[in-house]
Amino acid sequence: MEIKTDFLVIGSGIGGLSFALKASQMGEVVIVTKKEDSESNTNYAQGGIASVLAPNDSFDLHVEDTLRAGAGLCDPQVVRKVVEAGPGCIQELAQIGVQFTTKRQKEDQFDLGLEGGHSRNRVVHAADLTGKEVENALLAAVKARKNVRILEDHLAVDLISQHHLENYVRKSGEQIECWGAHVLDKAQNRVITCLSKITLLASGGAGRVYVHTTNPSIATGDGLAMAYRAGAQVANLEFIQFHPTALYHPQADSFLISEAVRGEGGVLRLQSGEAFMENYDPRKELAPRDVVARAIDHELKKRGDSCVFLDVTHLDQKFIKLRFPNIYGKCLSLGLDITRNWIPVVPAAHYICGGVVTDIQGKTGIENLYACGEVACTGMHGANRLASNSLLEAVAFAHFAATSAKERLSSMKSFSFPPIPSWSEAGVFDQQEWIIISHNRDWIQKFMWDYVGIVRSNRRLEQAKRRIDILLDEILEFYKVNPITYDVVELRNISIAAKLIVECALQRKESRGLHYNVDYPEKDDAHWLKNTVLQSEEV
Ligand SMILES: Cc1cc2nc3c(=O)[nH]c(=O)nc-3n(C[C@H](O)[C@H](O)[C@H](O)COP(=O)(O)OP(=O)(O)OC[C@H]3O[C@@H](n4cnc5c(N)ncnc54)[C@H](O)[C@@H]3O)c2cc1C
Repeated sequence: MEIKTDFLVIGSGIGGLSFALKASQMGEVVIVTKKEDSESNTNYAQGGIASVLAPNDSFDLHVEDTLRAGAGLCDPQVVRKVVEAGPGCIQELAQIGVQFTTKRQKEDQFDLGLEGGHSRNRVVHAADLTGKEVENALLAAVKARKNVRILEDHLAVDLISQHHLENYVRKSGEQIECWGAHVLDKAQNRVITCLSKITLLASGGAGRVYVHTTNPSIATGDGLAMAYRAGAQVANLEFIQFHPTALYHPQADSFLISEAVRGEGGVLRLQSGEAFMENYDPRKELAPRDVVARAIDHELKKRGDSCVFLDVTHLDQKFIKLRFPNIYGKCLSLGLDITRNWIPVVPAAHYICGGVVTDIQGKTGIENLYACGEVACTGMHGANRLASNSLLEAVAFAHFAATSAKERLSSMKSFSFPPIPSWSEAGVFDQQEWIIISHNRDWIQKFMWDYVGIVRSNRRLEQAKRRIDILLDEILEFYKVNPITYDVVELRNISIAAKLIVECALQRKESRGLHYNVDYPEKDDAHWLKNTVLQSEEV
């Protein structure tokens, strides 16, 4: 089966939906999303969206805070462009119906939260369910557009480019073009050739490369792996943000306890009750996430404890229930009343700062392929993302990409797609060794946690590389000879994403931002004030 469209959007989180809304003013849009339409990292975002809205705030201060967190690797031009776009993006979201929380006495003003690394209150939020509120409003707006089709349970498998042409031989220096994607339709169990003039990759992050993560199951690094296979540059993948406070509970599946809880006065304690953050940073609980995560990791390893505790029992009970209804409710459902008991927490993989390299308009190095949101490396986050800057970056870059795509589309009036052969499963047979998939997936997630986690060393990184190289060979072989399924596609992508993370981490011979290697504990500006960039040699 074949679909032809002007725009193919891969992913229905904040990045994909914001772009689709704008693209629908220019042409036909198809959104493919691998589960139900709302399932995304966006849907779980709690804290909010950073933007300069307070009278005592300024673009300069937001830029400064972002650059400081990014530890020398942000692109200042990108940071300024995104920060300056912030208030307009918030206004647009409010216009499509996002109900941001307002101040108690002044309902015409947004309540602005404070989070780690921000020098001013600037986090716009919808209680502690910001992502869900944004996701629902964007979905409703997109569904109201007649020329947008959302295909749920459709998994993008690979980007279509010259490599799919029959008898293709690459000429040196040839520009790779993207003409859409092969997409697995789960219900029909068939692969669709989805041809598009412009493709946007908005497939989110890769938290599921690790055993402990705050990310939902969709975050398997698909976009990263697809773009890499197609020949795009990927960069800075060693910079994985570990959120310091995921709920430590067997039934919680790494439920996040938002940074805003520390912003409102939550105190981190050891089992003994001792508050320990002042031993690590004068900003204590409001130090940037990497500092807090490393402090917790250090205390856990030193004592052999399995978790630390976040204490909000000194805060007003009514305020806790009003400000954090989701966290309060979730903990209560697990038998934990956070107004009376400390919350057990551990760090978990949360956000990947690197991704598919784009320019300041969201264009990748592949013609007609754009990327925005967590899958992209735009230059906004550098070596460490400032809290609540990711939703902002996703929505701002969706806008920049749509603006650029408009021009691109208008220059494609006489464009026609080359003949792309349909998907073929010739030579494929079911080996019925599906246990390999779950076993390999578990194994990768565990060794990535142990060897490529919060604190790294040369030895552990090299061990991780040896393991992933062997596994990847086996997995690619398995992929070639077995019928295509969601599990096989995700395993291939997780293993490629893991390999790329390890390679970036091995390249960087210093510690900076979120990458901490005990063998190079210092920052080395003389040699490493640059991105780690990877590009497939097989293209
Ligand atoms: C628990 C949690 C809390 C967070 N809190 C905040 C916060 O307060 N503020 C903030 O700024 N950031 C926060 N973040 C980060 C932020 O939510 C994400 O970075 C952001 O939502 C990413 O948006 P996105 O559109 O790029 O991707 P996502 O929202 O993850 O959407 C990706 C989409 O792509 C789809 N997809 C993936 N692979 C494929 C494929 N192969 N084929 C088809 N579809 C595919 C998915 O199903 C999904 O629809 C949080 C993240 C988490 C996990």
